[in-house]
Amino acid sequence: MTGGAGFIGSHLVERLLSSGHNVDVLDSFQTGSRDYLSGGIRLLIEQDVSEPFGGRYSGIFHLACPASPVHYQATPLETFRTAVWGTSQVLENARRTGARVVIASTSEVYGNPLVHPQTEEYFGNVNPIGLRSCYDEGKRGGETLAMDYARVHGVDSRIVRIFNTYGPRMLFNDGRVVSNFCHQALLGKPLTVYGDGSQTRSFCFVSDMVEGLVRAMDVPVFESPVNLGNPEEYTVLELARMILELLEVDLEIRFLPLPSDDPARRKPDISKARNLLAWEPRIPVREGILKTIQEFRTRLARHGA
Ligand code: UDP
Repeated sequence: MTGGAGFIGSHLVERLLSSGHNVDVLDSFQTGSRDYLSGGIRLLIEQDVSEPFGGRYSGIFHLACPASPVHYQATPLETFRTAVWGTSQVLENARRTGARVVIASTSEVYGNPLVHPQTEEYFGNVNPIGLRSCYDEGKRGGETLAMDYARVHGVDSRIVRIFNTYGPRMLFNDGRVVSNFCHQALLGKPLTVYGDGSQTRSFCFVSDMVEGLVRAMDVPVFESPVNLGNPEEYTVLELARMILELLEVDLEIRFLPLPSDDPARRKPDISKARNLLAWEPRIPVREGILKTIQEFRTRLARHGA
């Protein structure tokens, strides 16, 4: 697994180990954390995924890439290289060895969508030259490579488009909305809502995402791409109020400027995942947020802010 020390990756590693698989992890630790790297893995390959790597695997999950806007925009050149060249290295390995590959793409390929909810047929509305482009266009390039390796070399590449995912182990400084709000609320700080908070997102709990990824690898026949996410849609302001209510605190909601190219609406159509993978999210958002808050609280008590 590339990115096996990351947020989703570390949960997925644990799941694979518990079902008896041998797992090697490739991670550069740019945004991954050694704290969550499972001791049960067979081999740690500490390197950038943009560099060639060896090994023979029956399956490769390719998750390596900074995914939070704050992180991927901090190093845009590296982000683009990771998304395109990193994916190219993974596909090269698969071409040589016959490995099946699940490629983590993103809802960002839809940009600021003009179709709602987003189906896989929608080509998206992406700014090619903006601050988010390193990630959006990089991931779109990764999808192109995945399809062309399938057409040219017969690689069994499987593209999943991951929508906003949250849960225990998110970095406190991840910069994303769920981690920011939970962290701020637990510290008694104002919740930072960007813009007027009317933009929407759909939040998928990490164990549901892991289940979707495992199924994407396991089904005999796949048809790229497939959306994975929770179709329940919330405004950012609704999310802020929900977290204050769950924590039973009354904190200021502070409105800050909206980042550029911030998508106004986002909600996956998951009919394809339902049909192909017999998958849909099971954890309601309130329950998932409570689990996240509990883990954040424990971590804060142990390590501080
Ligand atoms: N957001 C916010 N306050 C924060 C962090 C994010 O209002 O402290 C907003 C952000 O502008 C976006 C939404 O929450 O509209 C989701 O942002 P996130 O960074 O989690 O992921 P994105 O879906 O934009 O990749």
